[in-house]
Amino acid sequence: MNANKTKEIKALLSTPKKIVIVTHWSPDGDAMGSSLGLYNYLIKKKHKVTVVTPNDYPSFLFWMPGNKKVINFSLNARPAKLAVAKADLIFCLDFNSLKRIAALGDEVAKSKALTCMIDHHLQPEDFADFKLHSIEACSTCELIYDFIEMMGDKKLINKDISNCLYTGIMTDTGSFRFPSTTSKTHRIVAELINAGAENAEIHNRIYDDTAEDKLRLLGFCLVEKLTVLKEYGTAFFSLRSDELKHFNYKKGDTEGVVNYALSIKGIRFAAFFVERDGEIKTSFRSKGDFNVNLFSRKHFSGGGHANAAGGMSELTLDETVIKFVSLLPEYKKQLNKK
Ligand code: 5GP
Ligand code: MN
Repeated sequence: MNANKTKEIKALLSTPKKIVIVTHWSPDGDAMGSSLGLYNYLIKKKHKVTVVTPNDYPSFLFWMPGNKKVINFSLNARPAKLAVAKADLIFCLDFNSLKRIAALGDEVAKSKALTCMIDHHLQPEDFADFKLHSIEACSTCELIYDFIEMMGDKKLINKDISNCLYTGIMTDTGSFRFPSTTSKTHRIVAELINAGAENAEIHNRIYDDTAEDKLRLLGFCLVEKLTVLKEYGTAFFSLRSDELKHFNYKKGDTEGVVNYALSIKGIRFAAFFVERDGEIKTSFRSKGDFNVNLFSRKHFSGGGHANAAGGMSELTLDETVIKFVSLLPEYKKQLNKK
């Protein structure tokens, strides 16, 4: 964001406003951490703030301060539409194309409010009046920290804000292990801990909140559903909806499973295909310079980051897997690069 725009939004936020915060479909730790981190900051500044998610999100994120006030658009469209229509300013967090918020995108497009996109995904679309975008940022939470600093309000960062921002940084960096983790990330995290972030406790709330069924589903995936194609340095899982049902699937139960495929020695491309809510959701992860954002954009109507992306398929699950496997020879050279 250039100096003029920064001044402009700072001036805008200097008096109480009606603000809506929206984040992407199937919100994750960074989506909710950035939304509620910004929420807790803006309410300290006396704004009237409403957080709206397009759909539901995992229960291991429900502990976050402000969570009770979040409106789920797919369950509760009316108050969400009203808040969007009346807003002076709408923050769009952790996504960069209105397609990523489905029907909620039509409401945002219709609204007369100014919009501010804060995001770290590749290839942003040009829909917002204000943009704080960096693909170097490990997470949108890191950018929310930058934003608060740009507003000259670092001293306002309290325990609630810190807990939210720490969560998104921790989850999007795979607990500080992905290459997106920089010394700046660690400096911000140090500041957040100083401001009250309960780092060890947050880790427990997110990662040690596992239902027995979720753990057994992971075991089932590892034993029964993993395909390794050494020739292509690729490994993937695919899961049918009846298999999810067997393990009493709840939102978030398959998060992270794809990373087990990527952890296999010699594997640099991992995929996960799941039949859910009548469609096939895809997740891609890679190591090194194999760009899964481009792969997902080209073949699975998706996008994301260079090493972590998602998308969907309108084929059946079996057909999706066949399509995926048939694409691999095209990428053989890149996938076998040492
Ligand atoms: P996941 O595989 O965990 O769902 O998503 C990995 C990354 O890709 C996340 O940063 C997520 O926001 C992004 N992503 C997931 N699904 C989609 C999609 O359908 N479209 C786009 N553009 N990004 C996605
Ligand atoms: Mn993110």
